[in-house]
Amino acid sequence: MTVALIAHPDSGRHDTGWDHPEHVGRIRAIPRALREDLELFQLLLHHQARHATHDELAISHDRDYIAAVQEMSLAGGGRLDPDTVTSEGSWDAARAGAGAVLDGIDMAFDGRARRSFCAVRPPGHHALRARSMGFCLFGNVAIGAHYARAVHGAGRVLIVDWDVHHGNGTQALVEQEPDIHFVSMHQWPWYPGTGAAEDRGPHRNVFNVPMPAGQPRAVYVDALTLAIDRATSGWTPDLVLISAGFDSLRGDPLGGFTLELEDVDALTRQIVSRAAGWCGGRVVSALEGGYAPDRLGTACVAHLRALL
Ligand SMILES: [Zn+2]
Repeated sequence: MTVALIAHPDSGRHDTGWDHPEHVGRIRAIPRALREDLELFQLLLHHQARHATHDELAISHDRDYIAAVQEMSLAGGGRLDPDTVTSEGSWDAARAGAGAVLDGIDMAFDGRARRSFCAVRPPGHHALRARSMGFCLFGNVAIGAHYARAVHGAGRVLIVDWDVHHGNGTQALVEQEPDIHFVSMHQWPWYPGTGAAEDRGPHRNVFNVPMPAGQPRAVYVDALTLAIDRATSGWTPDLVLISAGFDSLRGDPLGGFTLELEDVDALTRQIVSRAAGWCGGRVVSALEGGYAPDRLGTACVAHLRALL
């Protein structure tokens, strides 16, 4: 079984400043942690992401918005919203982030790598159709879900989002498509304030799991597992996408969940084994949040180990 680690040096060119929680040190922590596990490093297929095209970004975003992000970035950067800043390199970083997920999906379907992890930034799950939000420029995973259906004929796509924040952008970008099921477990009440359990979307294809902070670890693992089971009851996905936010780990400065590396391992293994039964093991995971860089690095290693 081949597992790909998909990345791009442009992820490090999205310069938000060291005072911003979503800073470049996050992405640098991943190869640093991976160097401690040489065996894993050698087992992975290392792949440099492509840049998503305008047309690919337009799967989920308005063209005027895409052009505005490009323009601001190439003009040197600026503030898109109170939380989200761009620099000269942000356009390339954001296109590589979306391109990484598309490459992962291509490889899952053509057999080069059944499973992959996209170590990219900026994250994507808060981005809306015509608006940046919460450090996110483009909805990498949402674009991927629609792309897999359009390009690879994937009938059904399951998205599992375990970032500590609700994936409001992903929900907004996929809830009109009944053959995409979206499962999001997130802290409640917390940023961005959406993601109530009753909010099932117009086709009831959204499975929100709002959870209080500070619960015993197993409570979160069990709740997410149950939601995945509900979302796939009588419904078999052809591809599984993971919005892997590691801000759900204990000690994250932007979240109050209590997950440990063992839980990252367990959740990943559960999804991998289910995907093996559903769809030949096709799993593409993409980094979302995670704001304690060293912790993020070791979590990515645990996640990659479990994907393998
Ligand atoms: Zn988050």
